[in-house]
Amino acid sequence: MKIIVLNCGSSSIKYQLFEMETTEVLAKGVAEKIGLHGSFIKHERNDGIQVKIEGEILDHQAGIEYILGILKSEKYGSIKDFNEIDAVGHRVVHGAEAFKGSEFITEDVIKEMEKCIDLAPLHNPPNLKGIYAMQVLLPDVPQVGAFDTAFHQTMPAHAYMYAIPYSLYKKYGLRRYGFHGSSHRYVSARAAEILKKDISKLRIITCHLGNGASIAAIVGGKSIDTSMGLTPVEGLIMGTRTGDLDVGVLLYIMQKENIDHFNANILVNKHSGMLGITGVSSDMREIETAAAEKNERAILGLDMYYYRIKKYIGSYAAAMGGVDAIVFTGGIGENSPEAREEVCKNMEFLGLEFDNDGNRGKRGKEVIISKPGSKVIAMVVPTNEELVIAKDTEQIVLESLKNK
Ligand code: ADP
Repeated sequence: MKIIVLNCGSSSIKYQLFEMETTEVLAKGVAEKIGLHGSFIKHERNDGIQVKIEGEILDHQAGIEYILGILKSEKYGSIKDFNEIDAVGHRVVHGAEAFKGSEFITEDVIKEMEKCIDLAPLHNPPNLKGIYAMQVLLPDVPQVGAFDTAFHQTMPAHAYMYAIPYSLYKKYGLRRYGFHGSSHRYVSARAAEILKKDISKLRIITCHLGNGASIAAIVGGKSIDTSMGLTPVEGLIMGTRTGDLDVGVLLYIMQKENIDHFNANILVNKHSGMLGITGVSSDMREIETAAAEKNERAILGLDMYYYRIKKYIGSYAAAMGGVDAIVFTGGIGENSPEAREEVCKNMEFLGLEFDNDGNRGKRGKEVIISKPGSKVIAMVVPTNEELVIAKDTEQIVLESLKNK
């Protein structure tokens, strides 16, 4: 079975074509600057052949049409006919309380997804555009939606409720939802596999540290808490997002700087986090370089970044009554030994014997970074959200065929 996985953002479409028998990625790429000047598609086939095609891409449908064209082209393609594509899996950011797992896309499901737009006005509309486009371009091909929020739907109410008037939760669905669900689910399951342990018996803390970052407490394979909330702004300090912030700070800034809701949103999402603190960059590599050159704000930013993660690990260990494994993933978690070392140091009280030598120099691969015999195992597991979406899609499509 061949499955194409789409991740449609406001001006970009990331895609991967999977051969599910082997889970091999036959081709992948990204269309960028959709609807803007200078649009292009970067495409890569599994034999290493790459191409960048520049030209106008007016909207998501046009972008997907070009992508399908490349996938079928003689020179760069991986398929001879569109009927080789058995299903499409879409990454959908917000599924609110309606979606507790991935779903076969029907008109009713689309209606439910449209109701979630209010909660993710920047993310869900482009996700939906990808779905509408595929309905037009490949009308007979089944589609599945995989929601970033779904994995965290197992959180208990005491973890997901905000201490605001209950009526506002009922009226608007204002509660914590969490994101990066496919990533937390994948790396926790993979960690159990690597450790050859039954996930139903494990308490795992997964740290997804990328431009966006979140951490999750997973008991028996189920998320019981996570750091992102109603929106992805809560929790850890991120590239450009504040993470946890006294709401009083925002109210104060809005009043003093006379900024409206629109600009306040931009402030906490785009101008804050590591970029805001360091003034250097939102990119961890550049911040680490600046800190090595003794840039004081870069050093402060990093100290804040590590400290926030440490606090969450402590609180989740308390929430779970202990922890068996701490898993690092995402661009920073996978590639920054410094970040892992700083987060994990002085955690012996928790039972974590960190292996500095085993950690040093390790980038982008599965590796255990605690000492043999450490009660708490620390490890790196590169994430693979697209594979989770492809596998969910395969399973749901096979089930729907069985039921026909
Ligand atoms: P996104 O959330 O956009 O998917 P990624 O998971 O790709 O982001 O993570 C991007 C982050 O990973 C950036 O801050 C980048 O600097 C960081 N990163 C990538 N490689 C390294 C590295 N070798 N050392 C430190 N940080 C890295």
